[in-house]
Amino acid sequence: MTPALDDGSPAPAGAVASDLPTDAALIRRALAIAAAAPRTGDVPIGAVVVDAEGRELAAACNAREALGDPTAHAEILALRAAAAVRGEWRLDGCTLAVTVEPCTMCAGAVGLARVARVVFGAWEPRTGAAGSLWDVLRDRRQNHRPEVVAGVLEKECAALLESFFADHR
Ligand SMILES: [Zn+2]
Repeated sequence: MTPALDDGSPAPAGAVASDLPTDAALIRRALAIAAAAPRTGDVPIGAVVVDAEGRELAAACNAREALGDPTAHAEILALRAAAAVRGEWRLDGCTLAVTVEPCTMCAGAVGLARVARVVFGAWEPRTGAAGSLWDVLRDRRQNHRPEVVAGVLEKECAALLESFFADHR
């Protein structure tokens, strides 16, 4: 069992080892997950969770249609799987990388899981809760505020969505 860290402690910025995956590499992995998703009619959104050492704990794609579950967003599925791997709900020190800006539900789950960093690709101006429509992640009223890195491989992430919606129109 991993020892518990101080609640709401900030990410150890500057303490990053050189062999950690880059943010672009994390988004590339999330893109691969999204692109390889089964053709269930689900919007191709992928997410990956890595620990502070850069080890992948979990990866998932959006499966709302596949599971018939309104909460089966890629981020939620990846956070749940990562917590299961760790054997605890706290994901201190972890980074969540996702191809599209998280919604309010997923941003809330990030805070509950104490994720240290969120990296995302494309902005989602209609539902985004990480800086576009809302900024739940960095709301100063929150005790836990992860570091947020936005717009990583933005064009590739947006292109995957655009091709999906072009096919489903
Ligand atoms: Zn969501």
